[in-house]
Amino acid sequence: MTLLVDYCPKCGSIYQKNLRNLCSSCSADMDNSLNRCLDHLWMRPKSTTKDLQKATGVSLGELHAFIKSGRLSSLTYTNLTYPCESCGCDTRSGRLCSSCNGVFKEAGKSDKPQEPQRQLIVKTTAKVLYTSRNR
Ligand SMILES: [Zn+2]
Ligand SMILES: [Zn+2]
Repeated sequence: MTLLVDYCPKCGSIYQKNLRNLCSSCSADMDNSLNRCLDHLWMRPKSTTKDLQKATGVSLGELHAFIKSGRLSSLTYTNLTYPCESCGCDTRSGRLCSSCNGVFKEAGKSDKPQEPQRQLIVKTTAKVLYTSRNR
């Protein structure tokens, strides 16, 4: 029987490959962080990602990963956001915010690729995001 081993992406130690792709100690750390977040959200469901970072000491990167993977539900806790992979503005589902999604769809149709992307950063506010989500 062969054991699949890999370097843990978080701490760099060699571990036996598993579904979480983390060594057991990082995996335990992660559970710990996640539990602290869930505890905090239980008391304050309106917390934003930044509130959560301050209250729990869990890094923003980790929080974003929790939200993206659905371990912290942005449907239940509506103020949890993570940055859009294209423009970096707050988004709550998928990899891109709704304005970037629109831009990429349009770019596919027309011959003007990605040109309006920069301007969107200035225009995009949380309100615009929510209204365009409902369309
Ligand atoms: Zn590790
Ligand atoms: Zn975006």
